[in-house]
Amino acid sequence: MGMKVECLVCLKETTIPKNINTEKYDGQITCRECGALLQVKLVKSKVEQCKVVMDGKTRLSPEKAGESLKQAKGERRFYLEDKS
Ligand SMILES: [Zn+2]
Repeated sequence: MGMKVECLVCLKETTIPKNINTEKYDGQITCRECGALLQVKLVKSKVEQCKVVMDGKTRLSPEKAGESLKQAKGERRFYLEDKS
């Protein structure tokens, strides 16, 4: 059962990665739609707090697209390692 959070930048729902404990989480997630970095606080599968850390659009500007993609991948790996 994936929990979803509404992205404050693109206003689309993004699924919270399975490795994140939605019962108690205070950290960052990346929006799958626009790539924005969001700071979220989850308590008992509910969003207590959500704010934008970095707007995905600025990072995904054409000249930096390749770089941002690499960065996004690195972040995702970081989350996985962080949880275990
Ligand atoms: Zn978004």
